[in-house]
Amino acid sequence: MLTESEPQEELLKLLACTDCSGSLRRNPTSLVCDCGRQYPLVGGIPRFVKSSAYADNFEYEWTRFRTTQLDSAGEKNWERNLYGAGTVAGSNESIRTFALKTGIRPEELKGKVVLDAGCGMGRFLEMVASAAKLAIGVDLTRAVDVAATNLVAKSNVHLLQADLRHLPFRPKTFDVVYSIGVLHHTPSTRESFQSLIPLLKPGGVIAIWVYERAPWRKPWLPPAQAFSDLYRIVTPRLPKPLLLKLCRARAQLGEHAQHPLAQKLLNKLLPASDHPNLEWRILDTFDWYSPKYQWKHTSDEVRRWFEDAGLVKITEQQVPISFSGVRPSESGP
Ligand SMILES: [Zn+2]
Repeated sequence: MLTESEPQEELLKLLACTDCSGSLRRNPTSLVCDCGRQYPLVGGIPRFVKSSAYADNFEYEWTRFRTTQLDSAGEKNWERNLYGAGTVAGSNESIRTFALKTGIRPEELKGKVVLDAGCGMGRFLEMVASAAKLAIGVDLTRAVDVAATNLVAKSNVHLLQADLRHLPFRPKTFDVVYSIGVLHHTPSTRESFQSLIPLLKPGGVIAIWVYERAPWRKPWLPPAQAFSDLYRIVTPRLPKPLLLKLCRARAQLGEHAQHPLAQKLLNKLLPASDHPNLEWRILDTFDWYSPKYQWKHTSDEVRRWFEDAGLVKITEQQVPISFSGVRPSESGP
């Protein structure tokens, strides 16, 4: 962390002013650029935005579910695999989710400088920091303060509050950039993705996971997503404590619908997380109904973004929609 006692020159070397791309230097309470811009340090964390803007639902979420998804704090025995396939069960759900959605193995992070674009309370950074040389987490919200608490023991983690579309880094800084379940909550998934590409070193890897647009398999049978889209016209506008109460009620309702047909109907007409753990289910359901932006995409669409960005070795992972790609060695600025 960037603290009074630790100037953390290694982080300053990676940073650049969001206005003029100039170098930043540190004074006691802020990072300063020669152009006059100042970025306050609050709790030792540099702030490149004034507020959480459109993402205040996530700030609310992560300050309430501070450690639910943190492997080191989580329950150790799940009844079944998150994705319903295979027999993998047990602890470290965030580690497994990272592997499934990025295709990156922890050993591949050794010696690397890694960016978590949308780190929330730090569930993936926890593992990444154990494997990588340097792990930088960025979030638009004050969830970075929760991450700072969760990851206080990791000396190679740095956190920033910043906007993914205007990140304060020098070009070609990162060996690995990943963004799991975040880009689709920004005003434009594609533009946010594109803004990450220049930050990759040549040969660097980017991996993202975004929501899948559920197909209408039969014209007369809407996917569950069509129903949640309908509710979402209202739900992001509800007071957050009320929405959380509603999500809790819905998550608990699932436990009472024992009959398979009743369960099926409920899942179709009032979609919610089906995670085996109640707290995760409440969190995931709130996470679905609260964001202002929730774009959904197809595999073809995301593949095209990777191609248009000039990436190579484009790989689609098993969990839809997750892709990784590599920035070619001879690439522009
Ligand atoms: Zn500047």
